[in-house]
Amino acid sequence: MKEVPNILWLEEIRKEDISSVGGKGASLGEMASIGLPVPPAFVVTAQAFRRFLVETGLDQKIFKVSDNLDVEDNAALEKAADTIKALVIKSKMPSAIKDDIKASYKKMSQKDLIVAVRSSATAEDLPDASFAGQQDTYLNIKGEAALLTSVQNCWASLYGARAIYYRAKQGFEDSTVNIAVVVQQLVHSEKAGVMFTSHPISGEPITIIEGSWGLGEAVVSGSVSPDHYVFDQRTESIAETTIANKKVEIVPDGSHGTKLVAVDAARQDAQVLADAEVAKLAMYGKIAENHYGVPQDVEWGIVAGTIYILQSRPITTIGKKEATGMSGQNKDAKILLKGQGAAPGTATGKVVIIRDAKDTGAVKEGDILVTRMTNPDMVPAMRKVAAIVTDEGGMTCHAAIVSRELGTPAVVGTKTGTQQLKNGQLVTVDGELGLVYEGAVGGAAKAGSAAPVVVGSAPVITATSVKVNVSIPEAAARAAATGADGVGLLRIEHLILGLNKTPGWYISNHKEEEFVKELYDGIKIVLDAFPGKTVWVRTLDAPTDEFRNMAGGENEPLEHNPMLGWRGIRRDLQSPDQFRLQVEAFKRLWKAGYEHLGVMFPMVSHPDQFIKAKEMMRDWGVDVENVELGIMIEIPASAIMIEDFLQAGIKFASFGTNDLIQYTIAIDRNNENVADMYNPQHPAVLTLIHNSIQKCREYGVECSICGQAGSDPKMAVWLVEHGISSISANIDAIAKIREAVARTEKRIILEAARNRDAE
Ligand code: PEP
Ligand code: MG
Repeated sequence: MKEVPNILWLEEIRKEDISSVGGKGASLGEMASIGLPVPPAFVVTAQAFRRFLVETGLDQKIFKVSDNLDVEDNAALEKAADTIKALVIKSKMPSAIKDDIKASYKKMSQKDLIVAVRSSATAEDLPDASFAGQQDTYLNIKGEAALLTSVQNCWASLYGARAIYYRAKQGFEDSTVNIAVVVQQLVHSEKAGVMFTSHPISGEPITIIEGSWGLGEAVVSGSVSPDHYVFDQRTESIAETTIANKKVEIVPDGSHGTKLVAVDAARQDAQVLADAEVAKLAMYGKIAENHYGVPQDVEWGIVAGTIYILQSRPITTIGKKEATGMSGQNKDAKILLKGQGAAPGTATGKVVIIRDAKDTGAVKEGDILVTRMTNPDMVPAMRKVAAIVTDEGGMTCHAAIVSRELGTPAVVGTKTGTQQLKNGQLVTVDGELGLVYEGAVGGAAKAGSAAPVVVGSAPVITATSVKVNVSIPEAAARAAATGADGVGLLRIEHLILGLNKTPGWYISNHKEEEFVKELYDGIKIVLDAFPGKTVWVRTLDAPTDEFRNMAGGENEPLEHNPMLGWRGIRRDLQSPDQFRLQVEAFKRLWKAGYEHLGVMFPMVSHPDQFIKAKEMMRDWGVDVENVELGIMIEIPASAIMIEDFLQAGIKFASFGTNDLIQYTIAIDRNNENVADMYNPQHPAVLTLIHNSIQKCREYGVECSICGQAGSDPKMAVWLVEHGISSISANIDAIAKIREAVARTEKRIILEAARNRDAE
């Protein structure tokens, strides 16, 4: 058999070469072979790595460290991983390999070309090769010395603690696992992003492209809300273009790294891709899909008008109607904790226990954040982690809402998570089933990757509008990508809570203008993502305890039961200063042409409150008869008095079932001790809902739901059967709610037709 050289060029590689060039290398070679514009690259083969191990004697030394290692002993595992990595990094690379790498680098370009150096796991027979070898990547590498160091760092990354653990658990011999390294011209993309060559859920021939400024990492990591383009392969035309407000981009930094910087004002709202670029990208996507025979998830970049295809891999979500839970696969895995599955998806990572928001500095990318309950100052840390586990809370607590919007798997209400789990412990979180397993359990996403994003244009038209809930503006693009018919609830308190200063702080420090601007900018992001579709913005509704840790929080009253306390419209009516600032932001948005903004008042218990709020708005110059003002129905009183509200002129009503349930059956929505009694389908709750829907129908007023119950397909069926006009669900639930609504509507029509025929 011919000996595999130290280096293979992309043009020489085919997918059969995976054991020499790893998954990434093989895929790039394959793409180049079908004519996709792949940046030039060579691969330092797995055989080169093996020669390095043997010639330096490292194979023996590594064996000595890892032999008899108890991978369950976290400290020992970490120590062994560090020792082996240091050995690999410090050993001298054999000169034959070094010379080959240097010669190839020179061949790419006479000048010091800037390259990306990526590890490419070769364990083709492992169920998840990315687990077997860590996916270390070094961007922006320039010069021979830096290149050689990066190659060696990639080799060392094969011995990360998590990778060793995973291999041990899967029964793979560490001594036989190899790694290849891809060295590729770094495309300093001026714009970049991802593309799904077909709809990732339904598989329809609709290409979805997301793009933003700078390097593609900004889109892949979710640091930016990208522009969203939909190209219909059937009509070969662009079906949808949504321009996002792109605040940040990732650009090369110095000679080795990258950095996140602000996008200049001129480009923030500018369209990233020209129509011709969308069409060309979609065509490349089609080529890839036809070649591989399955829809692809493609990374692309554009420099000076030239498109580069950087990566292509099969989409794994198509046809998986079930959520991403690992049900059935883990009969042998040890369950450490049970709670409520609050945000779907699975992830494996190391536990980091946070007892105070001040400690969030310890949280690293890909960790599993374990805490009593998240609060707004933890949101930056929540963005980084692979999954979230809390002791307290239910499906509508802060952790649950924010995790769903970030697309991060979460289990809430485990009661003892912070006591039972240990810092550094490797666990797998199943955000669907509400389980936390010991160790790395097969089927889970690698740490750091979020639950699959459900994107796509609406495949089904329903008579009942299916809208989406948004709490953090950065989720607006994901929310819009669901094709929802509007926003049925924008909770602005999350926007304020993220600023870490109470509204009272802004007022007493004479920074009202700053507050209005923050509100204006945050709401505008969501309005921009839903052009022509109604966005119901809810006025502030944060219980006093949620404000406590923020600047100004010391002035918040201490309440025995903040849920029943000074929140929602009752607080705004008594604090005109705070209410006026919100109205000022709305007024400016209406003036700027955002006519699709409607305002919804929370925690309303008497029509007088609605009338008073409307009067105050009129006094502040709002043309109250010509804007949409509505109420949340979340207190039984408002359901019972719905007709009075209708006569008072509400333009819409929306069930806030999270609260309506707790106030109807006296079950604290955030108390895990009574979570099993929190019953959205309690007959009393259903009666209140049914009566209110009927009255709204009589008055021709839109009646909706934005509580968590609206994200349950069973409840959606019941609501459609009982005449609801719209349902607003969480981002992750839109597809299944739309399907449930469509089926129910069809069944109702069919039954009516059959009944007519039978008469
Ligand atoms: C509700 O009560 O159902 C609701 C949507 O509001 P929140 O969860 O913000 O209280
Ligand atoms: Mg509520």
